[in-house]
Amino acid sequence: MFDLHIHLIGHQDRLANQENVRNFLEAARRAGLNEIGFADHDMYLEDLDLPLIRRVAEEYPDLKVRVGLEVDYRAEDEVKIQAVLQTFPFDYVIGSVHEINSWLFDYPDQIQRHQAEDPDRLYLAYFELVEKAARSGLFTTIGHFDLIKLFGVRPHTDVRELADKALQAIAANGLVAELNTAGRYKPVGEFYPEEKLIREMVRRGIDFTLGSDAHEAQYVGRDLQEGVQFLRNCGVKRLIHFEQKEHLIYGL
Ligand SMILES: [Zn+2]
Ligand SMILES: [Zn+2]
Repeated sequence: MFDLHIHLIGHQDRLANQENVRNFLEAARRAGLNEIGFADHDMYLEDLDLPLIRRVAEEYPDLKVRVGLEVDYRAEDEVKIQAVLQTFPFDYVIGSVHEINSWLFDYPDQIQRHQAEDPDRLYLAYFELVEKAARSGLFTTIGHFDLIKLFGVRPHTDVRELADKALQAIAANGLVAELNTAGRYKPVGEFYPEEKLIREMVRRGIDFTLGSDAHEAQYVGRDLQEGVQFLRNCGVKRLIHFEQKEHLIYGL
């Protein structure tokens, strides 16, 4: 079992030092994982010490430790992102949309704006950015595919229709989707993505990886066993993890 969406420093909540790396690796052991991947937010890159993660990992021969990055996707930043990705040999890169036209829509105080928007337009604007992220060629993985639902606002139109082009782009470009368990702890109270989107992804041949999106060591591996069972029930037969952007296959 692995967890490839871990934030060592959270939102600049702690330092990227040896003690904190160890805390997360100990937590991974306690959670019964044999692989953990750090994917901090790219905006904190200067606060990170990625070679340190590789050095501390040597103390834990029972754990495979991967180093990735979660990038805030903005269409106008593609060149900048490309440059950032050259600075370290990342094992994988998660492309995530957290922002629509400079609106940081996933902040906890943004619920009213979600409720005021036309939900179909909101979902379409979000999925259009996910589609661009998938077509950019920058990422191995699309983070929390249906994050736009986080406050529980649902579209009038079937979400599969609204997400159609984004799904096409993910499939056509061989990107991997995440089963991200953090959605359970948001107002929406369910995994990202929801069941009918998982089934649609399976139908289109899209593969999955796993992530808790833990911003604290205590949440490493949270709900992943259940997540895997959920994927199995939806017809998922294998999971993907990464080494130097190569896909490694884990049969279910
Ligand atoms: Zn994210
Ligand atoms: Zn994250």
